[in-house]
Amino acid sequence: MWQDRGVSERSDAIVVGAGIVGLATARALAVRHRLAVTVLEKEPEVARHQTGHNSGVVHSGLYYRPGSAKAALSAAGREALYRYCAERGIPHERCGKLVVATSPEEVARLDALAERGRANGLGGLCRLSPGEMREREPHVAGLAGLLVPETGIVDFRAVCRAFATDLGAAGGSVRFGAPCRRVRTGSSEVVVETPAGAFRASALVNCAGLQSDRVARLAGERPAVRIVPFRGDYYLLHPERRGLVRHLIYPVPDPELPFLGVHFTRRVDGSVEAGPNAVLAWKREGYGRASFSLGDSLETLAFPGLWRMAGGYLRIGWEEYRRAWSRRLFVRSLQRLVPEIGEGDVVRGGSGVRAQALDRSGRLLDDFHLLAGERALHVLNAPSPAATASLAIGEEVAARVVESFGLGRR
Ligand SMILES: Cc1cc2nc3c(=O)[nH]c(=O)nc-3n(C[C@H](O)[C@H](O)[C@H](O)COP(=O)(O)OP(=O)(O)OC[C@H]3O[C@@H](n4cnc5c(N)ncnc54)[C@H](O)[C@@H]3O)c2cc1C
Repeated sequence: MWQDRGVSERSDAIVVGAGIVGLATARALAVRHRLAVTVLEKEPEVARHQTGHNSGVVHSGLYYRPGSAKAALSAAGREALYRYCAERGIPHERCGKLVVATSPEEVARLDALAERGRANGLGGLCRLSPGEMREREPHVAGLAGLLVPETGIVDFRAVCRAFATDLGAAGGSVRFGAPCRRVRTGSSEVVVETPAGAFRASALVNCAGLQSDRVARLAGERPAVRIVPFRGDYYLLHPERRGLVRHLIYPVPDPELPFLGVHFTRRVDGSVEAGPNAVLAWKREGYGRASFSLGDSLETLAFPGLWRMAGGYLRIGWEEYRRAWSRRLFVRSLQRLVPEIGEGDVVRGGSGVRAQALDRSGRLLDDFHLLAGERALHVLNAPSPAATASLAIGEEVAARVVESFGLGRR
């Protein structure tokens, strides 16, 4: 037991991070397992980073390797999320998306994608001819399409606020302005020090997203992976040109790349976004094209995995940089899906930064990744579709924490 003065509150579990994964985990610990939970968040409100800067898409689970955690948790999480949003009156719509093949090679990949989707339990997939595609999306061009009716859109910030409300109703709390600065671990207790005070608990759950490897290191771990930030920029369609896109229009993803490719997304507020691209970023929480942090950059550059990864993506990385600065190149990518769109039809929108775990061999981790530590569980890779899958991830992580640290058995 720590005797320090200033060690104020005692909970069963502390969750670091009030993004959607941290809040879903805290909610599951408090509501299902009836534990006392404190969430520590460095920002003044929920969802300030990845969760509040994402595309707002409820992913179907089309892309993921059958048997992977992503495939299983996105299927369960998707349906749970739709039910939750309906119950809580959170803006959402199961509007479906169209994946469009624009070359013969992509048509073959589209068929493989459909097979994968069926293996992942997507019953509603439907192959569309060019004419059928245009009945649904009149401005789209392509050789073939795949309609994925399970996909939808949602306001993930509103989901986070509802999770925090559930947590509060179950006796838990979120402490804002409480960055985790130091972690001390004893045989039966963990103490997290923040400028807002020190917090004690039987277990720590690290859901710090873009900072998760650093929080793991604060807790004494030496994680084999490093978080590498990839910024994604969006453009917005001018309101009078929103009619070019009715729902969601995606390209067939390049199997060599970890991200989906720029696409069109209608948001729940009726706006239409185009993007995001994927550019190696020089600041973990930097949302401008020129954002730069010397510390973040040096940490990224000093990691051997970065150089091994970069070797494999030199040409693509260079093209992504050019596209990030050139509206013309960005719009050219969009024109493959909707040829009518012109440079004058879009304005710059926001950006998001993905927390992507990279290992020392240069491999970008594809699946969700947890690291078990002493009295701590670290969520070290929760990329897309973690927002979609959040309710299922929260249940899974909470069950692991309860089991590993014997919580709830008193
Ligand atoms: C551009 C983009 C588009 C995406 N589109 C989609 C999509 O359409 N659908 C989908 O399902 N997924 C999407 N994703 C992925 C999804 O947004 C993430 O997987 C998800 O939001 C991860 O949630 P998180 O809680 O792990 O991280 P975050 O939302 O980043 O939350 C981490 C929290 O930890 C806090 N924190 C960090 N360090 C500390 C510390 N030391 N002390 C206290 N607090 C700390 C941060 O302030 C932050 O609030 C997208 C992601 C991006 C970036």
